[in-house]
Amino acid sequence: MSKAQEDMNCIYRDPNQPVEARVRDLLSRMTLKEKAGQMTQIERCVATPDAVKDLSIGSILSGGDSGPFDDNALTALSSDWADMVDGFQKSALESRLGIPLIYGIDAVHGNNKIYGATIFPHNVGLGSTRDADLVRKIGEATALEVRASGIHYTFAPCVAVCRDPRWGRCYESYSEDTEIVRKMTSIVTGLQGQPPHEYPKGYPFVAGRNNVIACAKHFVGDGGTDRGINEGDTISSYEDLERIHMAPYLDCISQGVSTVMASYSSWNGRKLHADRFLLTEVLKDKLGFKGFVISDWEGLDRLSEPRGSNYRFCISAAVNAGIDMVMVPFKFDFVEDLIFLVESGKISMARIDDAVERILRVKFVAGIFEFPFTDRSLLDTVGCKLHRDLAREAVRKSLVLLKNGKDSKKPFLPLDRNAKRIFVTGTHADNLGYQCGGWTVTWYGGSGRTTIGTTILDAIKAAVGNETEVVYEEFPSADTLAHQDFSFAIVAVGEEPYAETLGDNTGLVIPFNGADIISLVANSIPTLVILVSGRPLVLEPWLLEKMDALIAAWLPGSEGGGITDVIFGDYDFKGQLPVTWFKQVEQLPLHIGINSYDPLFPLGFGLDKHQGELFRLISCVTKAG
Ligand code: BGC
Repeated sequence: MSKAQEDMNCIYRDPNQPVEARVRDLLSRMTLKEKAGQMTQIERCVATPDAVKDLSIGSILSGGDSGPFDDNALTALSSDWADMVDGFQKSALESRLGIPLIYGIDAVHGNNKIYGATIFPHNVGLGSTRDADLVRKIGEATALEVRASGIHYTFAPCVAVCRDPRWGRCYESYSEDTEIVRKMTSIVTGLQGQPPHEYPKGYPFVAGRNNVIACAKHFVGDGGTDRGINEGDTISSYEDLERIHMAPYLDCISQGVSTVMASYSSWNGRKLHADRFLLTEVLKDKLGFKGFVISDWEGLDRLSEPRGSNYRFCISAAVNAGIDMVMVPFKFDFVEDLIFLVESGKISMARIDDAVERILRVKFVAGIFEFPFTDRSLLDTVGCKLHRDLAREAVRKSLVLLKNGKDSKKPFLPLDRNAKRIFVTGTHADNLGYQCGGWTVTWYGGSGRTTIGTTILDAIKAAVGNETEVVYEEFPSADTLAHQDFSFAIVAVGEEPYAETLGDNTGLVIPFNGADIISLVANSIPTLVILVSGRPLVLEPWLLEKMDALIAAWLPGSEGGGITDVIFGDYDFKGQLPVTWFKQVEQLPLHIGINSYDPLFPLGFGLDKHQGELFRLISCVTKAG
């Protein structure tokens, strides 16, 4: 057998060989430079075919704002993405050992980076549904739409337990309650597929070409930082960290989650990216996690002051702590620096081998060697009716009815769809971008028709009777209110999209003078208020008093029809608060388990249309928290 033939027939290329044998075989053939390349994840906008091939780059990502093109990324379609990813894959396969790459994005509420994909409610809304099966199905749908776009890897789910709504990532958390977050980790099975019975604990699992590699993030304590400051410090005992913030990772691991992302935050002053105890002794050794740990975006740079200085120190701190793949994302120096650190004895070869083994294991398990390219037959799934119907169901189930009628014997909802004239108003009534929130097409999300979907106004127009007139004004005018005869008003107000640190907010008032809009309308007409926000906002007693009904709609995504399904009475309300609704920001942090718990609406609160209180879930896990 010639050398070339032998190489083609070698163990690592043989899908019938056990994964561990393939990993060992491939690892034994790799140079240090190739190993360093596999540990590198670079941003698409700096990736070139030559770099991918020559450095044997392990992974490419499109971060918050990057798409397949440098210009006009906003309207790139799934097929454009697939072409781009396949192009990079071709280069990866031309590398000396032909190791395929994995392409990652943040598909955190559907395949949200891609124009025209189905946008599901953000996690805070899914937490309101308490419906693990629904969330698993959302994972399945997301996986299909992501794979259709050529992408193998999503940085989801975020299993943060948000203990303070001032945090700019509150909406990425399913709940302040550990038990609810644990339940919602069913999304991992949806994304990656269901591992067979008796699958080895901690071992990564990806069922096939209709599934994606998932990533539980951000390990650990990201939602518990002091005053809800993004990337801040979580001050707690190890026992509380484990009980409140780590527990959902156990559920992800038991479902075979393939990767875990380290948190930017610190635990008692120590940055997670350099915390060997938590990343290695706890996550890998104690919890038995066998997939790979990825850093967050420039997570290593944040280990020194000024940021990014003394990069070699940052690399050795992070890699020695247990980071396996580094989202550099722009620094090719990483490869050279890592080699230097190994050659100078600062990082052991054993640590490198462990990291690369973990990365290769995930690639073999996920079938990337066998099926490196996009299955174009999946393209029809992107934004398909089935997925939009699922998203609409999720919206229906996520709505939390907080008030229904000024009179306890007279419910205000459901509304009459055949009323003569309805007034629809507010900054969020006809704004798809606002309705979808952050992480939608771009990092921060946007305003207006940023993707394909149905706004609340679109849905109202579609739901009302033929004889009903719908009058819409973004900002209500006193003149309209005074001179037209309306049966009732629907006012949608809420937050502008945001992501990460710029979402940190200490005031939490309804933006765009939302309270004034509500008050102006409610002074003249019976009013339903739909609050579109990623978290509870200040609701002063006088304002609450004026409203006839109030719904927390969270960030529902592309399917506004889920809202009209419920307000016109085709379905009943099912949602329960996943987070405590505070009375005043001065009370924060206020979550279940605190002695002075005196909320406006407690965790678990939600009414049905008859004004009855739905079952209240009060978890014993966080009680003492
Ligand atoms: C976020 C992560 C995200 C990553 C890649 C970071 O800024 O913290 O959640 O996965 O960017 O986009």
